[in-house]
Amino acid sequence: MSRAACFVFLAILLVASAAAQPSLQPTVWATKPDAAAFEKIVNDKLAAGQNSIDKLVAVKGPRTIENTLVPYDEALRQVNAGNYLANLMFQVHPDAAFRDRATTMTQKATAVLTALSLNREVYQALAALDLSKADAATRYYVQRQLLEFRLAGVDKDDATRARLKQLNDDLTGEVTLYERNIADDQRSVEIASAAELDGLPQDYIDRHKPGADGKITITTDYPDIFPVLKFGKNEALRKRLYEQFDNRAYPKNHDLLQKMMQTRYEIATLLGYSSWADYYAADKMAVNGQNIANFIRDLNAAASPVAQREYAMLLAEKKKSDPSATEIWEYENSYIREQLRRSQYYFDSQSVRPYLPYASVKKGIIDTAAQLFHVTFQEEPNVPAWDPSVETWDVMDNGKMVGRFYLDMHPRPGKFSHAEMVQVLDGVRGKQMPEAALICNFPKPTATDAGLMEYGDVQTFFHEFGHLMHHILGGQQQWAGISGITMEADFGEAPSQMLEEFIRSPQVLASFAHHYKTGEPIPAELVARMNRAAAFGRATYTAAQISYTALSYDVYKGKPQDIDLDAVCLADTKRYTLFTPLPGTHMYASFGHLSGYSSAYYTYMWDLVIAQDFFQQFDHSNLLNGEGPMRYRRVVLEPGGSMSANDLVKNFLGRPQNMTAFQRWMGEEFEFQPAVSKQAGN
Ligand SMILES: [Zn+2]
Repeated sequence: MSRAACFVFLAILLVASAAAQPSLQPTVWATKPDAAAFEKIVNDKLAAGQNSIDKLVAVKGPRTIENTLVPYDEALRQVNAGNYLANLMFQVHPDAAFRDRATTMTQKATAVLTALSLNREVYQALAALDLSKADAATRYYVQRQLLEFRLAGVDKDDATRARLKQLNDDLTGEVTLYERNIADDQRSVEIASAAELDGLPQDYIDRHKPGADGKITITTDYPDIFPVLKFGKNEALRKRLYEQFDNRAYPKNHDLLQKMMQTRYEIATLLGYSSWADYYAADKMAVNGQNIANFIRDLNAAASPVAQREYAMLLAEKKKSDPSATEIWEYENSYIREQLRRSQYYFDSQSVRPYLPYASVKKGIIDTAAQLFHVTFQEEPNVPAWDPSVETWDVMDNGKMVGRFYLDMHPRPGKFSHAEMVQVLDGVRGKQMPEAALICNFPKPTATDAGLMEYGDVQTFFHEFGHLMHHILGGQQQWAGISGITMEADFGEAPSQMLEEFIRSPQVLASFAHHYKTGEPIPAELVARMNRAAAFGRATYTAAQISYTALSYDVYKGKPQDIDLDAVCLADTKRYTLFTPLPGTHMYASFGHLSGYSSAYYTYMWDLVIAQDFFQQFDHSNLLNGEGPMRYRRVVLEPGGSMSANDLVKNFLGRPQNMTAFQRWMGEEFEFQPAVSKQAGN
């Protein structure tokens, strides 16, 4: 093995050598960054994948699992590993030149995967497989792969495939341009003096000094506009800014979106679907557009009574300063909500931070996950990673190693700046251990700074940990192609969103949230107050999400020439939210998800509904114990992508998901004890 033969084999080495510490190989990221060695690993994996495909194609005679599915899956395993590694290095490597080379390698790996997805010979070979004696997971795997091939148009004639290729190239260009138009169209308003910033925090005012002409500029960038919409007392300023914000990329993206809708419509119809929404749902839990429409209808029915109660409270709050008010404008929502949170739910998020120093939170989350999922975690201090701050952890099940993960948790120049879980290796039973990395940006503790976290950060940490456990516990399959989180794209956020609920439990929080100076556990009363403040506004938030979901669906549900974007956007806002839209705005032009998610923006709420339904199955007085957690692990996580997510859900709930638990979650704020509300008022 060359010195570059690295981490991908390390897990196997570790297992092979059992208890004895193996002599550690220098890894590609542990020593001085060696981009050439890294490129060689990725290239070798892509070549090994191609080699497997060549072998598969060359087979003469009847197609068997052994001569066809085995090399196909081996190709996926190899190419995925190359792709994951390139993507990971692109996101986290400390060296900029290394990251640039990783970008190139990512493109190379993507091109190999795309070519494979369009390979007709491979499709025909898989379609010719005799699966009569195969197990259910293998049959499901092949069926799903064939569907993906057909959705790419592999079984169409040459002229149709050439046209599809052209349309897909057009679409890629249109999507990129649509997103760039949004990013490029920074708008701003000018104000005469800092007096117009009344209500904003001092550090915000300090950051916005007057220019040479004495005027202050406020842009539509998030860190500029959101504080004004939330805290700014000057209503005219909020309105002016909102008007600019909801006109970004207009009119450019009006015409471009029409074009994109047309391109997608043509792709869908060439492939035999009546709309893009139908086509795009075909490999997802939703299955077709009608189910998205039904979901929107049911979600709206569940949200609307609670949203009306919340709206009445918001309107009462507005009337305190404007007794004649009869409606709330969209641009006022954030400000009035903040006023209400202070007057009725007195809760200052700063009061929680001292209980959340990073080190305790990390330990708490690891301990909680270990108890919940019946595994143990063991840090491997001698297995270095790509940066000295990154920790390597092994996952043990009954004393046996079942996976590995890396924690890259603090900001670093050039690193991915949000929070995510990325796959490193797909688990294949007896062949390859699943590996993943959490990439986050939480405060870093130092000798003088405990690294106090926001409560939202703690939720994010556990959310990403949910993806991680799904990848690892679901990564014990016979095939790489059905390992871990390789399932319908509209199920992926359900397990992670469910874990966020666990962290809201006062018992769970008290087990690790201890004051960084006194060691005192977080008071139950504070947790209750925090949860109550967080619960207010869920239904009006849901209503807003429904309007976006409906827009995403309505834009792609039919023939593009029949769709008037302004009319559809206005109608969906009016129909699903209770707030009054501002005339002359065109939010669809800057709603970036219409290009990326296209008709599948429903995913987020769809999974939240499932997450709440799942969570109701646990014993809330004894969350981490009882039989719930292990049953959840066995029934939902362990199957990975070996069966349809609709079946996973049914197997766990005993029925398909419904709105009952979600409706209860939305109305939770109205169920709190009066005692809490009294304390909150003090
Ligand atoms: Zn997520």
